[in-house]
Amino acid sequence: MRRADVEVTHTDVLVIGSGAAGLISALQAASHGAKVLIISATTPAGSSSELAQGGIAAAIDDDDAPALHAADTLSAGRGLCSLDAVTVLVGEGPAAILRLQQMGVPFGDEAGLEGGHSRRRIHQAGGSRTGHVVVSALVKLVRQEARICLASPERACALSTSSRRCIGARTNRRLIIARSTVLATGGYAALYARTTNPPGSRGEGLLLAYEAGAELIDLEFVQFHPTVLDGSSLLLTEALRGEGAVLLDEHGERFTAELAPRDELARAIAARGRAYLDLRNIDREKFSSLMRLIAQAGYDPVRAPIPVSPAAHYTMGGIRTDIDGRTSLSGLYAAGECACTGVHGANRLASNSLLECVVFGGRAATTAVGEPAVPPSLVHDVSSDAVVPVTLDVRASMWQNAGVRRESEALARLAHSYHPIARMIGSAALMRQESRGAHYRTDAPDEDSALRAHIVFQRDAAPLAARWA
Ligand SMILES: Cc1cc2nc3c(=O)[nH]c(=O)nc-3n(C[C@H](O)[C@H](O)[C@H](O)COP(=O)(O)OP(=O)(O)OC[C@H]3O[C@@H](n4cnc5c(N)ncnc54)[C@H](O)[C@@H]3O)c2cc1C
Repeated sequence: MRRADVEVTHTDVLVIGSGAAGLISALQAASHGAKVLIISATTPAGSSSELAQGGIAAAIDDDDAPALHAADTLSAGRGLCSLDAVTVLVGEGPAAILRLQQMGVPFGDEAGLEGGHSRRRIHQAGGSRTGHVVVSALVKLVRQEARICLASPERACALSTSSRRCIGARTNRRLIIARSTVLATGGYAALYARTTNPPGSRGEGLLLAYEAGAELIDLEFVQFHPTVLDGSSLLLTEALRGEGAVLLDEHGERFTAELAPRDELARAIAARGRAYLDLRNIDREKFSSLMRLIAQAGYDPVRAPIPVSPAAHYTMGGIRTDIDGRTSLSGLYAAGECACTGVHGANRLASNSLLECVVFGGRAATTAVGEPAVPPSLVHDVSSDAVVPVTLDVRASMWQNAGVRRESEALARLAHSYHPIARMIGSAALMRQESRGAHYRTDAPDEDSALRAHIVFQRDAAPLAARWA
């Protein structure tokens, strides 16, 4: 039962997280007349969305088509994408860009190219500050919308459930009762010692959902970005390579195709320890803010190539949803990187993730507003926290045991971690005795058609293999 001294807030839609997915979901729910409360452990500026550099993929130009974008997305996903989800993503892509434009995001005229895309379809706003420009525009609208209240810092510690329905969440400050709850808490790449993500990307939303009874899926698929400034978390965007930057080995020789899929590049660089990104012959003015950050880190891209090595960057796995953001728990929705809609499969195509936030964040909110009110008799507190502290040891163990190159002994060690997500990643990667997309096993380097399925975790049940419906 609810403790007498706990503050209780009622809202129609509770959104947890204030990155692109959370902000879009909130705006969409409010546009349907719903009262929305966003709570977020960090301000929007502390999200991964804020850091996005490359841009947003959408098939808009005359020589492009959603079908071509779908083909590239499916090819990266190595047989594990949901065709329905991909069709929605690419089909709604052009309208999503238009919508962002109407919301005040000033996209440039010329589309860029990134690895795995067969056309120039990466749309940037503010050059390599696209994430910041998008988040700022959305925050401005959220602040103008009377139906939305944004509370941060406020952290969700557990979801509240009754009769197998999610009815809100308990935070570090209060109990929130909501007709529907949208998790938009981002991914889990910051569980790794070496990452491009902010510290908040620790998979807390996944833990909240799991403890409340929802399914998690595809956790073993983690994308490692190949070109991260050595010794730091500063990502050197793929768009640089799209503009002609080349990768050199320690002898100054090219050793790979610069726009090869990220997993191939990450492995090629990891095998050498590091590589050098030569930015001397590209138009660096297009990336002026990034050049400033490189200079602040002590490097001069005009004089010499920059040392780079891989880091955990994007997590394809997450809370299993359908194409309208519904999880397997009634009343609970998920959008953005914490969700697994099926658009990425075994590997994400660059710049499809912000698009996913916009497209599926909007769809989740549109569906979530239709949930019935919570009867007063259902209102009660939950007992224990779902979130688990992340130690330096866990992060080191993730990097050592489930990094770019994996093998059974190391994965078995991780499968005994005290941290539930680390444990599930270890178990799933161990079960997936093959190499597929971003998951590379040195002891099983080929794809195995028998494993063209997803590993699903649910509390109190053994992991099982499933296919998208
Ligand atoms: C350096 C970098 C560059 C990138 N570049 C691109 C790019 O060019 N194009 C592209 O498409 N994608 C890019 N990505 C990926 C993309 O930015 C993310 O996938 C996307 O922004 C995720 O958005 P989100 O809203 O799901 O989560 P996030 O933006 O990560 O937001 C999650 C929010 O949830 C909050 N939160 C977490 N746990 C809790 C909790 N327990 N309680 C309350 N709040 C919580 C966090 O504080 C945060 O506000 C990049 C990522 C990084 C890190």
